[in-house]
Order: sequence, then structure tokens, then C-alpha cells
Amino acid sequence: MRRTVFNEDHEAFRDTIRAFIEAEVAPVYDDWENAGHPPREFYSKLGELGVFGIQVPEEYGGAGETSFKYQAVISEECARAAVSFGGYGVHVNLVLPYLLKYGSEEQKKRWLPPFVSGEMMTAIAMTEPGTGSDLAGIQTTAKRDGDHYVLNGAKTFITGGVLADRMLVVARTSPATPDNRRAGLSILAVDTRSEGYAVGRKLEKIGLRSSDTAELSFTDVRVPVEDLLGEEGRGFEYLTHNLAEERLGIATSSYASAAAAVEFARRYVRERTVFGKSVSSFQNTKFVLAECATEVEAARSLVDRCIEALDAGELTPADAAVCKLFCTEVQARVVDKCLQLHGGYGYILEYPIARLYADARVTRIYGGTSEVLKTIIAKDIQV
Ligand SMILES: Cc1cc2nc3c(=O)[nH]c(=O)nc-3n(C[C@H](O)[C@H](O)[C@H](O)COP(=O)(O)OP(=O)(O)OC[C@H]3O[C@@H](n4cnc5c(N)ncnc54)[C@H](O)[C@@H]3O)c2cc1C
Repeated sequence: MRRTVFNEDHEAFRDTIRAFIEAEVAPVYDDWENAGHPPREFYSKLGELGVFGIQVPEEYGGAGETSFKYQAVISEECARAAVSFGGYGVHVNLVLPYLLKYGSEEQKKRWLPPFVSGEMMTAIAMTEPGTGSDLAGIQTTAKRDGDHYVLNGAKTFITGGVLADRMLVVARTSPATPDNRRAGLSILAVDTRSEGYAVGRKLEKIGLRSSDTAELSFTDVRVPVEDLLGEEGRGFEYLTHNLAEERLGIATSSYASAAAAVEFARRYVRERTVFGKSVSSFQNTKFVLAECATEVEAARSLVDRCIEALDAGELTPADAAVCKLFCTEVQARVVDKCLQLHGGYGYILEYPIARLYADARVTRIYGGTSEVLKTIIAKDIQV
């Protein structure tokens, strides 16, 4: 089906990203997976390419673009090559909206230029060993002491946690109130070189092996009050404001991964011969790929509609929950079926379908599990 969401500028940008991946990422991607993250210099290259600054206003060194579409193009191109850019997604998709929306003028001047160049990589630490879906249960504390907060606690599963230079840490600045468990949370943008800030284990994951996911701990970390993002005590509300964009980002890369899986399988079944016939000649193969292509088309239409809605400022949290739930479930089914068509080779990591399969599992977990999304959707339809 002809897509109407991208124009010539987006397609020219797509060509640039495709060439960049072919030259700078695909040849060394195995090394990144073995190391658990891209080399630090790679982020400077992304900075030079301009991808960190697309949505940053021009006065802070960015391109001043307000549309999400360029990010969508990057997701599609990464999926097409079965690679990811390490902590890129968190830096741009998760952290940037907070800096733009809640950063003061002074903070934007201080943080956005190095954010754009890749000199300052960022990440966000919400999840704790004892609480993930239920963020109101956060126990990390930040107690005011003169012109500093004193931060204590631990976080886990933090993407970009090893290489980040500044971490948005969600912490409790005052106790929850009896009638509101969500009260009293704040967001601090913590310099990761601060004394008492420690990066613990880099977690070994079954997929997404090129992104560093780490445990963090904070022991009496002194954070200047000027590094508080927005207003004290409004952290939970801020977290909910950005959920729609965060979830659309995951939905986009999920549908794109399903689309890439269909293409890898299509090429494979045409080349592979069994019982003297091409695998593509079996009716089962044709039917499976037709079903997969249909699911991808439906997911793509939903993503395209949601991208337009986000750009128009109309995407609701429930819309984004629907989109992420649908696209990640489509991804799971489609990637699994496309792996099956590869036979044993589908299980071997040198085939891109195997990497897509391993990487896909987490999309139904992070950014809101499928079950949590269903509770949001059910509430929206008043069940
Ligand atoms: C690779 C990876 C990267 C991540 N990156 C980050 C990051 O950068 N920053 C960050 O802060 N976090 C990150 N996370 C954490 C992620 O967001 C959480 O894992 C996720 O929110 C789920 O929380 P949990 O793991 O504590 O699971 P739990 O909340 O303990 O959930 C356990 C089970 O209970 C179910 N459940 C929970 N609530 C309900 C409910 N109301 N109704 C029905 N079932 C329910 C869940 O769906 C799940 O099946 C990452 C996780 C992974 C695996």
C-alpha cells in the first residue's frame, strides 16, 4: 500500500541513514554485540551526522524539526539491517522530550549543545530492583541539604547505563501522601561522574546485545539543586506526559522489525532448496508469508496514523498503548514465523532473523508491559 507519511526530504534522509549503516555499523556490529555496546566514538559520529539534534531547536545547535518522522525513518532503517544504535533510542526518544519540555533556559543552554554533538550521552533511570511497572513504588530518595539534593538508592535495567554522562534519575524528594502514592517524586539530571554514583553490573541479555543495560547505585550523591528538572514533586506527572511518544517509538521499531523479518524470509525461501524444490514453492510458505505481510501492513497503517497524530499533538496515552500492544504482538508472531521458514539456520546468530528474534522479546516488556497496556486500554474504553 502506498504510504503518505513520508515526503522527499524524509526519503533523502533515509538514503543517508542507509548508507551510514552500511558503512559504519553493519561491518562492525558483531564487535559491538560482543562488547555489549558501541564504542564511545560512535556516538560522536552520530552527533556529526546530526541525528541527535533533529528535534532540538536551532539556538541550541539542532535542526529545529518538530516532527517524529525522522526518528521513524531511523527505526525503520535499523530494523531493515537488523542493527541498533546502542543508547541512541533512549537518548533521543526518551530523554530529549524531558529536556525540551521541563528544562529551564539555563539547563537547555548547558545541556543541549553537548547532547546534540554526542559529547554528553544521556539515559533515564526509573526502574528499581523492587519496582518496575509500579513506578509509584520508587524508593530511591533525594533529600534536600542546602543547595544540594543527597541521592541514595539503586536502579536496574538502565539502558545506556554504562556509557551515559548524565542520567535522569527518578527519586522520592518527599514521602507519598496517604491519598496519593504518586506524589513526592522528582527527576534529577545527575552527572554520572559525581562521587557516590556507581555503575554496577552490565546485565547479560538474551537480545539487544549492542546496548549497555546496567545496574546503578547512589550513595550520598550530592546533586546541585540547579540539576532538578522541572518542579519538585511533579516527577510522576512528567513521566506520564512522555509515555505516548516513548511507546510510539517502540511500536515503530517493532513493526519495522516484523517488516524486515518478512523480507529476510522472502529472500531466504527463494534461495533454499529442499526435496529438489525451492522452499518458496510450498503453499505453506506462501500462506505464512502472506499472513505475515498482512499483519505488517495493518501494523504499519496504525503506526503511520499514530505518527501523524503525534505530530499534530493529538496522540493520547491510550492510542499509544493500543499501537504498542498491537505492533509488539505482531512483531512476536511474525518474527517467529519467519524464523521457522529458515529452518535450523534461523537459530544461528549469523543469520539476521535470529538476531531479530532475540531482540524482539523485550518489546512486550519494556516501556510498559503488554499487560499494563491492556489495563490502560481497558480503562479508556471504560471496562
Ligand atoms: C532490556 C531492557 C531495557 C530496559 N531499559 C530501561 C531503562 O532504560 N530505564 C528504566 O527505567 N527501565 C528500563 N527497563 C525496565 C522496564 O521498563 C521494566 O522491566 C518494565 O517496566 C517491567 O517492570 P518489571 O521488570 O519490574 O516487571 P514487573 O512490574 O515486576 O512485572 C512482572 C509481571 O507482572 C505483570 N504486571 C505488572 N502489573 C500488572 C497489572 N497491573 N496487571 C496485570 N499484570 C501486571 C507484568 O506485565 C509482568 O508480566 C528495561 C528493561 C529491559 C528488560
